[in-house]
Amino acid sequence: MYDLSEEDLQKIPAILQGLGYEVIAPLKFNQAVKLAPINADSKIELDYIRLMNSPRDFLLPNRETLFKYRSTATITSYGLKIRFPTVEGPCPAGISPEYSSQKKKLAFFGIHPCIANSIRYLDRVMLSDPPDPYYSDRRKDMFLAVLECDEGDEYCLCKTLGSYKVAKGYADILMRKSGNRYIAKPMTPLGETVLKQVGKEISGDYPKIVPRMKKEYEITNADESSIDSKDASETVKSCTLCCACTVTCPTCYCNDIEDRFSLVDPSNVERARTRMSCQRRCYSMIAGGTTFLKSKEDRFKWRLKHKFPFSINSFRLVGCVGCGSCIANCPARIDFRDHIARSVD
Ligand code: SF4
Ligand code: SF4
Repeated sequence: MYDLSEEDLQKIPAILQGLGYEVIAPLKFNQAVKLAPINADSKIELDYIRLMNSPRDFLLPNRETLFKYRSTATITSYGLKIRFPTVEGPCPAGISPEYSSQKKKLAFFGIHPCIANSIRYLDRVMLSDPPDPYYSDRRKDMFLAVLECDEGDEYCLCKTLGSYKVAKGYADILMRKSGNRYIAKPMTPLGETVLKQVGKEISGDYPKIVPRMKKEYEITNADESSIDSKDASETVKSCTLCCACTVTCPTCYCNDIEDRFSLVDPSNVERARTRMSCQRRCYSMIAGGTTFLKSKEDRFKWRLKHKFPFSINSFRLVGCVGCGSCIANCPARIDFRDHIARSVD
């Protein structure tokens, strides 16, 4: 275990940069704290409860080009004519991959345990067979320095979900505040190499502390039939469909795939992946215009079913890490705990 001053701790990102990492850390932007790439002048914010974004925004960007290809589309006097691959022969499109490996390995510095656990969930989804090559390339050789919390606010749910404990393999360094100093524990040989350069080794056990919560909850109704059968019309009445709940959730990964081209030259096509929210009506729309999740209530329940029973069935992990972002950032303060949990205060 190592003892460090705040000044010592703030030196860690520069060491990581020296090791070839692009360091992403919490920075203050007006009143909000966001993860952003740091530079030599950055002052890293260590005293915060919740981020406006999460590692997901770096691992699964809001929009990315997957590849470009040349189609045989042409504009004729009858309109756009596209030759699709047919039984007559092979696909006429020539695929040119757009993606190139990222230049630097990513290091996240100062994220909280729930957020480190959100990477575990994304890994489970994106690296299951077949793994997503775009995600997998960014994920490779990542360094994680996790700052543990002593206390949550009224929206935090990590104690209920157990996500205040960082899962094995999701921290190279664990750090926490201790009085006006910090203590840190290396979890990997690289974490040890980094800490040796800035901290003083001390004896003793790194403390296991359960953070204090403002409100405590027990999850009681998170199975599919309980979520479906409970009336949520009052809960979602004031939902504005702004999608802030899914935009700020560190584990939401749904996306849409589009082929984009210009009518000036329809043969140059870009296949892009963009983030999609289950709270939008078009999320469940299929060809012909049929929409399965018609009402706000349907979509609210879908979000909960995806986070709880569907994720447990598909990935053996709960898809919610209890960060509270979806509640704290909702303009209508819609609180999903009202639907699936009960207060135990
Ligand atoms: S953040 Fe709140 S208001 Fe916006 S879509 Fe989600 S539940 Fe509805
Ligand atoms: S569902 Fe809400 S509390 Fe759970 S991980 Fe997403 S934003 Fe955080």
